[in-house]
Amino acid sequence: MSRSLIVVRALPQLRRSLLDLRREEASVALVPTMGALHEGHLALVRLAKRRADRVVVSLFVNPAQFAAHEDFGAYPRTLKSDIAKLAAEGVDLVWNPNADTMYPKGFSTRVAPEGPALAGLEDAVRPHFFGGVATVVTKLFTQVRPDFAIFGQKDYQQLQVVTQLSRDLDLGVKVVGLPTVRERDGLAMSSRNVYLTPEQRQAAPVLFATMKDVKARLRRSEDLRKAMRDGARRIEADGFKIDYFEARHAHTLAKVKSLADGPVRLLVAAKIGNTRLIDNAAV
Ligand code: AMP
Repeated sequence: MSRSLIVVRALPQLRRSLLDLRREEASVALVPTMGALHEGHLALVRLAKRRADRVVVSLFVNPAQFAAHEDFGAYPRTLKSDIAKLAAEGVDLVWNPNADTMYPKGFSTRVAPEGPALAGLEDAVRPHFFGGVATVVTKLFTQVRPDFAIFGQKDYQQLQVVTQLSRDLDLGVKVVGLPTVRERDGLAMSSRNVYLTPEQRQAAPVLFATMKDVKARLRRSEDLRKAMRDGARRIEADGFKIDYFEARHAHTLAKVKSLADGPVRLLVAAKIGNTRLIDNAAV
């Protein structure tokens, strides 16, 4: 029997709906998102459906993870079409709180992640970011109490931070990562891709293409530092300003000097015009 999608915006309503969802010991998977859903998000939902009996998707543009100069105000908001897409995927519950529900007046606690959150990648450029993510994810996990939470490898450092967070705080949520979903030309799908001008959109696949090329060179035992230096030049030649382009240990995110220090993950963040894109790839 197919169930219809419920959209809830207040905590008492969420608690009641979860009691219903959990009847007959049904397992629950949560997919946290900031909305503006694309095929990458829907792939997370499909994985959630395979993992658990019931699927909850949160839609919340989290102010706590944006710095004052970042794009919180401009971040795309497409609630109606998001809900239609989730209904079509057979999602059971959408949790769509507003900022006052998540951070009521007087809210004064912040989760401060360390370890992978201090690897010197995203955190070096966005020092406020993982504190905001860890705080909202802790709240979402305690509100929904899912068995599983599905995150994208697209935000690779975030996936490591959230995995560590759930373990360290005994949140009891198994964090599952899904490989990045890409456009046909290799560009990682992102809600921020809508900011790209046609010219920038044409240049954007260079991030993934460069990582693929570096990977091929490393597999031929070429020097890692040289391959990374050439890769960075190619990215910059296509109009990007690089925040970081690094080879790291896939689990600890520690710096690596060669494939022998691996498993190795390449991670990149770069700006084209005003738009900042991130991507990563396994070697
Ligand atoms: P956000 O885009 O910030 O709302 O991210 C919500 C979730 O979707 C996060 O776990 C992201 O890592 C994941 N996600 C975003 N884009 C992709 C993608 N192209 N492929 C796989 N997961 C993604």
